[in-house]
Amino acid sequence: MLYAACGVLIMTYDEILFWLTDGDFDHLTVWADRVRREFCGEDVHLRGLIEFSNHCSRACGYCGLRQANSKLERYRMSLAEIFAAVQRADTLGYGTVVLQSGEDKDYSISAYCDLLNRIKQQTGCAVTLCIGEKTREEYQALRGAGMDRYLLRFETSDPDLFAQIKPDSSYENRLRCLRDLKSLGVQTGSGIMVGLPGQTAESLARDILLMRDLDLDMIGLGPFLSHPQTPLAGAPNGLLELSLRVLALTRIVTRNTHMPATTAMGSLDPLGRQKALKAGANVLMPNVTPQKYRAFYEIYPNKICVNDQPGDCRTCISAMVQSLGRTIAGGPGHSLKAVTRG
Ligand code: SAH
Repeated sequence: MLYAACGVLIMTYDEILFWLTDGDFDHLTVWADRVRREFCGEDVHLRGLIEFSNHCSRACGYCGLRQANSKLERYRMSLAEIFAAVQRADTLGYGTVVLQSGEDKDYSISAYCDLLNRIKQQTGCAVTLCIGEKTREEYQALRGAGMDRYLLRFETSDPDLFAQIKPDSSYENRLRCLRDLKSLGVQTGSGIMVGLPGQTAESLARDILLMRDLDLDMIGLGPFLSHPQTPLAGAPNGLLELSLRVLALTRIVTRNTHMPATTAMGSLDPLGRQKALKAGANVLMPNVTPQKYRAFYEIYPNKICVNDQPGDCRTCISAMVQSLGRTIAGGPGHSLKAVTRG
């Protein structure tokens, strides 16, 4: 097997394409599981997810939060409510909170900075933000206020497909955001949706190579799930097996990147997250959003856990990790990449 100087397994485009389409599925996932065990260990890292606003100024063709969806009841948590949810996550033992929203211009950068300062002073939590495309200066201010990590999926590396599904955004700007975040020392996560209408195995193979080449700290991926109030209403959902193949291959070529078993995997198949944990994933994102808001963060339909309280998700996730013979990590669970980057 070929490894580059930085230790990343060299898998060619053709090999990736073979494993995406023809290679034996069980063989691939066992391989990815072995790589996960060797480079990440048995620990599963928990990230408490707080979906704090479903307002969005964007027109993404796949997402139920898109501004044009007038059927969605909108909510916006106050900074005090968000902080209370962070404290709940801290109490539940999550070393990281992920604050996610639509692109909601109502929160100013200084409001985020106040919130970050308060979280850093009063809890031990690492903070990941997932709030969309910002300028370098804005990311820099957030970093200065204590933001540890940022999630921004590039969604697809096919520029034509990107233009179709994100008509008011640009592929170049999305990648610029990722470059800025990395250069500011923010632990950076990206990823894709699998099974977008018009997406090919060839473009998925290029996505996997791009995820490797970006040298990401975190990678999140899951099946595309069709939402009835979007232009992609009625399109077929992405397939779990293909999503797991992409996950497994990404684990094999990136080795120690943090990769969640995503809610989308669990929404497509009741055992989707367990299957992902056995195919390379080493992170879970239990929901800490107050129960009264959960159903409205409807990026896709039939999301799991919408009727649960935060404590319920803790219990369920502990049982899931235990049943797989894995352990729950303590602490913030920072990037494992610092070691391999040298
Ligand atoms: N506004 C933020 C957060 C978006 S929601 C941002 O743009 O980064 C987080 C992720 O959910 C998206 O990046 C997308 O990959 C995924 N997502 C959105 N709608 C989806 C759908 N219909 N099916 C599957 N995943 C979806």
